[in-house]
Amino acid sequence: MRALDSSIVEAEFDDLVTANAAYAEANDVSGFDGVARAGVAIVTCMDSRIQPLEMVGLGLGDAKIFRNPGGRVTPQALEALVLGVHLLNVSRILVVPHTRCAVATSSEADLRRRIAESAGADASWQPLHVVGDQLAALVEDVRKVRTHPLIPSSVLVGGFVYDVDTGLLERVV
Ligand SMILES: [Zn+2]
Repeated sequence: MRALDSSIVEAEFDDLVTANAAYAEANDVSGFDGVARAGVAIVTCMDSRIQPLEMVGLGLGDAKIFRNPGGRVTPQALEALVLGVHLLNVSRILVVPHTRCAVATSSEADLRRRIAESAGADASWQPLHVVGDQLAALVEDVRKVRTHPLIPSSVLVGGFVYDVDTGLLERVV
């Protein structure tokens, strides 16, 4: 594949692209068809302390992963889950927020102030979906999945909290 943008500066991502070449050499990624082989979908946070596949013993090809700040069941998450359930072999869904999550421990005003400071610009227009009560939000998010008209009751849905200090999942709902 040829670069489409002549202004690309190779060095900007060199370390990662080099690592990718080693990854491609060491891993046989061919032969997968894109379904979730283990029948699992996980909605979780973008947090770098979470390894969604590894934390439940899964690997390449096993699961559909949807991530966003807070691990919330947003309209896009539901879109992914509907696709997963009907077209990609998903039969079990885990919704997994986590301890010490920035969007569940900060106020919208505080996050907005920190972003505005970092950007040196007004951030008042940027939506920031903070979570007031994390457990109540999880219950509501699981309910959204369970009651979705296109997600059948045969699909198992669990709400868990991942502890970033112990690595353990605790089921809440
Ligand atoms: Zn988080």
